[in-house]
Amino acid sequence: MRLILLGPPGAGKGTQAARLVEKFDIPQLSTGDMLRAAVKAGSPVGLKAKAVMDAGGLVSDEIVVGIISDRIEEADAKKGFILDGFPRTVAQAEALDALLAKKHMELDAIVELKVDEDALLARIENRARETLAAGGTVRADDNPEAFKVRLDAYRVQTAPVSAYYASKGTLKTVDGMLPIDGVTKALDKILA
Ligand code: AMP
Repeated sequence: MRLILLGPPGAGKGTQAARLVEKFDIPQLSTGDMLRAAVKAGSPVGLKAKAVMDAGGLVSDEIVVGIISDRIEEADAKKGFILDGFPRTVAQAEALDALLAKKHMELDAIVELKVDEDALLARIENRARETLAAGGTVRADDNPEAFKVRLDAYRVQTAPVSAYYASKGTLKTVDGMLPIDGVTKALDKILA
């Protein structure tokens, strides 16, 4: 199962991806998680990415395409993978098409979680509160200022990615405003 989950920040991609990981026994490949790990490790990629990530902007296509191209070759991705947070620009979607063709791999589904934008800031604030309550560390970009920039980046650069797949006839949509279990059910139906 090779799957792309699309949707704005706070749409619940991470939550649903975690469930799909269990169901299909495939890894969730989140470029955001991988970049945060690189920042934490202080690697050259992390050093380059940190400032732009903290501000809510997008890391260069070259960096993220390189990360994904290497990652999908790893042994745990043999049975498939869930892309979460990638592709985030049409250039990344085109690069993904090219690299999958080169590797003789095909996508099984591209699903967008559709959500009401007004609800997103409340979701992000809630995520920050729950993380703090659980004794965790809140993401540097989970604050209203950076979130606004992330949402703007989504509208300008990532919404066209959905249009890109829709024009190829391969985009499926799920109502991301349903309760978490309802979204999972809708996804199960699409992926059955
Ligand atoms: P996320 O965890 O998906 O919300 O990503 C957090 C941040 O990582 C984003 O705001 C970007 O700065 C960066 N990032 C993650 N994925 C990508 C991507 N595919 N292209 C560019 N930047 C990305």
